[in-house]
Amino acid sequence: MERAKIRLCVEHPLGAGQAVPLDADQAHYLFAVMRLAVGARVALFNGRDGEWTAEVVEAGKKRGVLACLEQAAPQLAPPDLWLLFAPIKKERTDFIVEKAAELGCARVLPVATDYTNSARIRQDRLQAHAREAAEQCLGTYVPEVCDLQPLRKALEGWDPARRILWADESLVGAAETLAGLAPGPWAILIGPEGGFSEGERTWLRGRDFVTPVSLGPRILRADTAASAAITLWQAALGDWR
Ligand code: SAM
Repeated sequence: MERAKIRLCVEHPLGAGQAVPLDADQAHYLFAVMRLAVGARVALFNGRDGEWTAEVVEAGKKRGVLACLEQAAPQLAPPDLWLLFAPIKKERTDFIVEKAAELGCARVLPVATDYTNSARIRQDRLQAHAREAAEQCLGTYVPEVCDLQPLRKALEGWDPARRILWADESLVGAAETLAGLAPGPWAILIGPEGGFSEGERTWLRGRDFVTPVSLGPRILRADTAASAAITLWQAALGDWR
């Protein structure tokens, strides 16, 4: 059976013959926006059961029901990679979360650093961006997007088994590669437009689970740096090898 083109992330369990009720937003998207009718096929995923091809059995203005027919793709969890990043302007923060989902992060933790100028984020909106990115990139997994917390608080009680690859802009120009770093649970840390403060730099260098890294000879925008760092890590230690 060909994979359905329209994809929808649902909370509901998926399995052979499973009926999946739609909420009003999902019904509006499938039946009003995408103009699907009874009998149409939709690809469903929930981050646990892989992708299932489902058929529309009921279509209404504010509700509907899909019936799972067969599994179209197995559940594919991304590598155990988290992204910690300091929020920047809204659209660019949206971009960072979207790329983290597409490039294969398992969790996204916005962190407030000394020079972060975006005091708050809309976690629900960012989670929706991650969900839409997974729908678009044929993913079957949606990274959890956490609420904003201070960097120091996020690293309190940090499990040292999860190493942090810290993009330290003061290393700009240093030709470093990730060769020699061991696979396993990792996190990437990207700073805000203003970079890291000296106090943060000293504090981070004092933690043995933190590995500072250069992202080449130019200073990258935070959103570019996030995508570049995830790409580097995926190619060296992730599921692109
Ligand atoms: N205001 C800082 C400066 O001029 O040095 C630049 C900060 S940069 C816009 C935002 C973040 O991207 C940095 O905190 C760092 O995490 C990352 N970054 C950008 N370019 C980098 C590079 N060449 N090497 C390492 N990290 C970099």
